Amino acid sequence: MITNKNIRKESKKRLTALILAIAGIFGIITLAGCTAAKNKKIDDGTYTIVTSFYPIYVFTKNITADIPDVELINMTEPQTGCLHDYQLIPADLKTLEKADAFVINGAGMEAFMDKVIKQQPDLDIIEASKGIELLKDDNGEENPHVWVGISGAISEVKNIAEGLAASDTKNAAAYRENADKYVKLLEQQREKMHQQLDGFKNKDIVTFHEAFPYFAKEFGLNIVSVVEREPGTEPSAGELAELIDKIRETKVKVLFAEPQYSQKSAGSIAKETGAKVYMLDPVATGERNAPADSYIKAMDQNLKVLVEAFSQNQ
Ligand SMILES: [Zn+2]
Repeated sequence: MITNKNIRKESKKRLTALILAIAGIFGIITLAGCTAAKNKKIDDGTYTIVTSFYPIYVFTKNITADIPDVELINMTEPQTGCLHDYQLIPADLKTLEKADAFVINGAGMEAFMDKVIKQQPDLDIIEASKGIELLKDDNGEENPHVWVGISGAISEVKNIAEGLAASDTKNAAAYRENADKYVKLLEQQREKMHQQLDGFKNKDIVTFHEAFPYFAKEFGLNIVSVVEREPGTEPSAGELAELIDKIRETKVKVLFAEPQYSQKSAGSIAKETGAKVYMLDPVATGERNAPADSYIKAMDQNLKVLVEAFSQNQ
């Protein structure tokens, strides 16, 4: 039975469909780069912080320790190294939808930020490396591995704390207090490393992956050469031969490979030059929910390795 009511309903439906269709067409025409989902900061009582990767997660974990109603999520699973060339996966964008703030290293480490900003223009983005003077490589390219030096880590921790304090004002005092405590621990570790490393005269080293300039600057290490620039890219036979000559010339006796990187070239260089291969950790990757003391523990292990290496290198 067709009643007036049904007809009205039907025409209303059609009208709605028509409006939606027109709106849809206009949507496509007017805004090709229309934002898919706007970050709607629903106040659910929990302040959700997402970090881009391991070192930033560990720093933020210290800064947010024991603060109620603050949730911390690390966006990425353990990688083979840093986030260079990392492509966002759908799960990452889903994680970010929950975020009130996204804490990143910055300085170009998160090359995917355009996509994040496009999807969530209202998301608070906290850049740990903000305002820190970046070291440049021979080609004038800025090096983003600020956290590998402990002074860089301290600056990043302070930046993250201030960013969070501005974004989540309710907990501002707690973030700052936690950051102060953690900075003191970092300063102690830095002091300990200086005490044990400063006495060594010969601190020439060869590293794998360009993660160590900040660390080297901090502790007076002389990086004679960097073997691999990124995970998975081995030097060519010619480059390897050149490097072997260089190492023989400089008489470098210590090579530092990273736990996550291929040790193939390190092995052949060691064989050809008589240099020894040690493991140095740039604290770029690790388990997703790493404990708060992970960074300091890794630096302490690096200290042990350096002392052992330099003891045989003088
Ligand atoms: Zn890196």
